[in-house]
Amino acid sequence: MDESSATKLLFSSLALDPQILRAIEETGYTEPTPIQAQAIPHVIAGRDLMAMAQTGTGKTAAFTLPMLQRLLPHASTSASPARHPIRALVLAPTRELAIQVHESVVTYSKHVPLRTTVVYGGTDIKAQKPALMNGVEILVATPGRLLDHVESRNLQLNQVQILILDEADRMLDMGFMPDLKRILALLPKQRQTLLFSATFSEDIKKLAQDFLVDPVTVETARRNAAGENIKQSVCMVEQHDKFHALVELIRARGVKQVLIFTRTKLSAAHVTKQLERSGIAADAIHGDKTQQERLKALEAFKAGTILALVATDVAARGLDIDQLPLVINFELPTHAEDYVHRIGRTGRAGASGEAVSLIDGTEERKLVEIEKLLNRQFPREPAVTTSSASGASYHKPLKPTPPRSHGNHHKPAPADDWLSKPYEPSISVKPIEEKPAAPAPNKPQKQVAALFRKTIVQ
Ligand code: AMP
Repeated sequence: MDESSATKLLFSSLALDPQILRAIEETGYTEPTPIQAQAIPHVIAGRDLMAMAQTGTGKTAAFTLPMLQRLLPHASTSASPARHPIRALVLAPTRELAIQVHESVVTYSKHVPLRTTVVYGGTDIKAQKPALMNGVEILVATPGRLLDHVESRNLQLNQVQILILDEADRMLDMGFMPDLKRILALLPKQRQTLLFSATFSEDIKKLAQDFLVDPVTVETARRNAAGENIKQSVCMVEQHDKFHALVELIRARGVKQVLIFTRTKLSAAHVTKQLERSGIAADAIHGDKTQQERLKALEAFKAGTILALVATDVAARGLDIDQLPLVINFELPTHAEDYVHRIGRTGRAGASGEAVSLIDGTEERKLVEIEKLLNRQFPREPAVTTSSASGASYHKPLKPTPPRSHGNHHKPAPADDWLSKPYEPSISVKPIEEKPAAPAPNKPQKQVAALFRKTIVQ
């Protein structure tokens, strides 16, 4: 089925139960996304599925809706735990993704008596036990915590009929293969398996070969990678001016929300601190934060209490923020594919968005890898904008910085210069403690905006 004809479908033509359709209608979706239109009929028909779909394409509903449909014959209002064995297991690589998938399951199953819960690490395992003991048909889990529950005998997986591996590529990247193998050995051989992945690497194909039976393969256009609805641009800055450029960019755009990516936990913490000092309400989510802190930061961001959320790649995986206007790569990711995941946080579900990468000379090589992956070239604007107190602004040319002579990109780079210093605008920068009430953007900001507009690749 080609995508253009797929998008013309209506949910009502997808053989979904009226109670599921009712829940979809209440979410306000009018038509299935391409991945939904392609995947749902096959899953309802009971086929194994290998789907290449990134976050932002509607992939969660693409597996949740037909999963609910298939479980409907088992829906029961009985209070007895025995009537609610785990029949569908959704594995997700991170807690954030697991939580979001679970929220989607709750939304779409609102009108059907199927129970669901989510288990993930980093929180008290005992608190997760009662829901499991009461019985749930649909369990969303991160692999490690699922195995902890198996060991504690809090659950049984011998009645699982549907297994869903969400963001399978990331699960492999994060080293979950041994856990996956252990989990798969606990499941009935006779089952339906759905594998969702942003990429079809050799490892993913091997995983599919080993665990899927005669799967249907569906692929959606790499919408985010193609960047149809995301304006992507690159701005070259010297490393010590990066933070300065970040603040100016945020101010110039005048957005209410910005998601900023850093490569390491340390720089995420540092950027957050510096933003706060500059009067930009910010918080961070990264691996050193407790689950509670991460959720609190995310909630504050979604509610608009903070303007900037600073995240590392792993922590941000699966983040779904409605109408997010701007993503800034403060540092490029170690793996080129993560660039695609990062910018995919904006421009979701058909909205438009913008992604700007601030790049210093040490990141050129990473940028080239990203360009290879996307099959496009970004114009390099060799400028960082600073403005004098008098309001004049000028572009400071970037000194050519030789790339670091490390061949191995996976090795953490040495601590960056800017990390060790507090942010002090060395060149007189547009005062950052502007009064929040100050209305129209001033001249230097406009010039910054113009500069960034120039770099936009449509
Ligand atoms: P996902 O790729 O599953 O992370 O979904 C990305 C976003 O698209 C989420 O905010 C969903 O609520 C939204 N979404 C999913 N399906 C549809 C649809 N058919 N129409 C509009 N929005 C959708």
